[in-house]
Amino acid sequence: MKILCINAGSSTIKFQLFEMPKEEVLVSANFEKIGESNSFYSFKINGEKIKKEIELENHKVATSIFLNELINLKVISNYDEIEGIGHRVVQGRSKYSGSVIINEDVIKDVESYIPLAPLQNSANLMGISESIKLLPNIKNVAVFDTSFHQTMDANQYVYPIPYEWFEKYNVRRYGFHGTSHKYLYNSIKELIGKDLKVITCHLGSGSSITAIDKGKVIATSMGFTPLGGIAMGTRCGDIDPSILSYIMKNTGKSIEEVTNDLNKKSGFLGISGISGDSREIEDGIALGNDRCRLAQDIFVNRVVSFVSYYYVLLDKPDVIVFSAGIGENSSMVREEIINKLNCLNIYIDKEQNNVRSKIQKISSENSDILCYIIPTNEELMIARETYELIS
Ligand code: ADP
Repeated sequence: MKILCINAGSSTIKFQLFEMPKEEVLVSANFEKIGESNSFYSFKINGEKIKKEIELENHKVATSIFLNELINLKVISNYDEIEGIGHRVVQGRSKYSGSVIINEDVIKDVESYIPLAPLQNSANLMGISESIKLLPNIKNVAVFDTSFHQTMDANQYVYPIPYEWFEKYNVRRYGFHGTSHKYLYNSIKELIGKDLKVITCHLGSGSSITAIDKGKVIATSMGFTPLGGIAMGTRCGDIDPSILSYIMKNTGKSIEEVTNDLNKKSGFLGISGISGDSREIEDGIALGNDRCRLAQDIFVNRVVSFVSYYYVLLDKPDVIVFSAGIGENSSMVREEIINKLNCLNIYIDKEQNNVRSKIQKISSENSDILCYIIPTNEELMIARETYELIS
């Protein structure tokens, strides 16, 4: 059975076509800088990469190019071969604790949640409406970033603010990257062969950390929006909320401008003044740049503060998992994090840690807690959930 996975972002749309249940990727394609003058797309098929610079006016154009290419490249001969489409949807609020087949009510809900994730949910909706328009006979499934986190207790998701804000305006911690955290938990459970207490660290340009007890999320670092939690590539993570009004008063910036600064000009980029990309931060550190060193120290400290808090919440985890762009690739960041956890008898094996993007145990033999790298695969998780729901 062929399942298409669609991940629509504000200026990107990513596709992967799977043969299920074999979990074989038949083709993957990324369309980037949609709506900008330098837009392009790339296809990966049979180990070969094809890249083309082309004007991509909007997501609709990108989707129809992708569908045409599926036939041109002879991946399929007919659209009826695709039996289901799984869509990433960022905000599903507390109503959606699992993936669902998309109908009109689901579309209305996703639309009504746009104010809680303006860029993300509106992009996700575009992907959904284009699929329905261009492939009207195929079932669509919504896989929410927030679903996996819906098992948290109120003492984790209610903020210490006027309770009315929660009741009337749904201001609460939702948590994000749920599809990735669930994939990581399932993978480590399968690897070790039993239910576990796990801390999953999804460290990419957006980063979040989750405490999971036997498959149930106990706590997660991102909050009401993906701006909360640890410091990230360009996002600030948790900060004192008074900073907003203070900066607005002193600079004359509007709430939109300050919010934009906290989303796009903070984190690694804000501190280093150089880049939001951790590779460039590491290069800066190698050249003796103090602000790059500071940016990485702050990042590592924030990760350690959540990991050590979740260690206590879980009453000692069995495993700590590292994943996503930084977690999978940066041996330096992993080593700095684990070294700060030595007082909890968590130790790194430097040699084992010297790898990229592969499943690998990186804790030493005398470590009380196992540490693993597990490459994440949100697209595969979406394909699995879609396959399960429609078959
Ligand atoms: P997202 O999916 O949130 O856009 P990714 O999971 O792709 O993010 O992670 C992007 C981050 O991973 C960037 O900060 C990038 O620098 C970092 N990264 C990717 N490859 C490496 C590497 N080889 N070494 C260090 N960091 C890396």
